[in-house]
Amino acid sequence: MSPEPDALICGAGVSGSYLARLLVEGGFRVEVYDGNPLRGHRCAYISFSSLLKPILRRIGLELDDFILCHIRSLHLNGVELEVRNMISIDKPRMIEEIYPGDGVIKKNLRIPEELFRRGGEGTLTVNASSRILGAQRRILPRQFRARASGLEAGEAYLSVKPGYGGYSWAFPLDEEGRRFHIGAGCVNADPQPLIDRLMRSNGIRVEETICSCGRAISVADLSRNPEIMIHRGMVASIGEAAGAVFPMTGEGIIPSLETANWLYESLDRGDYPQSFEAKVQGMLMEYRDAFNLCIGFLKHPRLTWLRGVGRMTERLKGRALLNLTPVAWMRLWLKMLARG
Ligand SMILES: Cc1cc2nc3c(=O)[nH]c(=O)nc-3n(C[C@H](O)[C@H](O)[C@H](O)COP(=O)(O)OP(=O)(O)OC[C@H]3O[C@@H](n4cnc5c(N)ncnc54)[C@H](O)[C@@H]3O)c2cc1C
Repeated sequence: MSPEPDALICGAGVSGSYLARLLVEGGFRVEVYDGNPLRGHRCAYISFSSLLKPILRRIGLELDDFILCHIRSLHLNGVELEVRNMISIDKPRMIEEIYPGDGVIKKNLRIPEELFRRGGEGTLTVNASSRILGAQRRILPRQFRARASGLEAGEAYLSVKPGYGGYSWAFPLDEEGRRFHIGAGCVNADPQPLIDRLMRSNGIRVEETICSCGRAISVADLSRNPEIMIHRGMVASIGEAAGAVFPMTGEGIIPSLETANWLYESLDRGDYPQSFEAKVQGMLMEYRDAFNLCIGFLKHPRLTWLRGVGRMTERLKGRALLNLTPVAWMRLWLKMLARG
């Protein structure tokens, strides 16, 4: 009889796979389950090289192997900004290399939510299913991968419409400028008009749609104290299930990997759940201001949109090393004012 595992990981997307790899390399026994033959969600592409590189290096992987395109410039509401850190990545391949699934992951096995709620005994159960247990909001995206024309190679397009509570994008998926990821995300409205607007204003023509996705992104409701289940006894949540998604942009790959690493470190040091919980709570506190701004967009768009867009560009500036010259900054604000 095989010995009991130390951890039972439910969900083999980015966070579950990364945790499984760290635990196995650290000498722990794991069992990994995924309710879907296609592990992880297929649709996220944008990340930031200086942050993702060291996370992958920790497990001996090279980021360069997964980069589809280095993005050189970002057209933010029609204002072109130079970027140095933004990339599109092959997420399915990255997940597969983080923790190869064949014959190891028990696929098509859906773990009942009840197990995450009440917790197992003895063995640690990890909720890496992207299902938040507790108060949450959802960003409703509509997006597709497409062969498209009218866009420049290495250039990305982002359009923010604060009063509408959403934004739209077109990101390149190859260095040649042939394949793009096009979409929009909104908190409480139909994202399609934002996609139409982006296509019109940038002259984008879709020649062939390769695939599409409409899975909602879950964001922890941080309007008060985070009331989501980070851990309960021998159950811990990581990734999107732990609220690891930046509320304004829906960026979740890097934060999800970070939460998996915090859980691993806490188990390895033998101080679970203290250091793990403190780090996840710290992240949620950091996200709180951005979350409340998003709520402000919905309730008082006229009052909050200037500050909100400022926050979003600040975040992009920090992550994407945006070259936001005073002239570009002024042009951006004038555009936003004109549309306000
Ligand atoms: C449409 C879309 C676009 C996005 N774009 C970006 C982007 O460009 N950049 C970025 O940084 N982030 C993006 N994100 C966010 C990011 O992709 C997610 O936050 C991140 O992948 C979450 O990782 P995870 O491991 O927590 O969950 P996931 O990667 O979603 O994996 C969860 C896994 O759990 C499995 N599962 C679910 N329930 C069960 C169950 N009961 N039992 C067993 N298995 C179960 C699922 O099948 C899935 O494989 C996007 C998200 C979406 C939905």
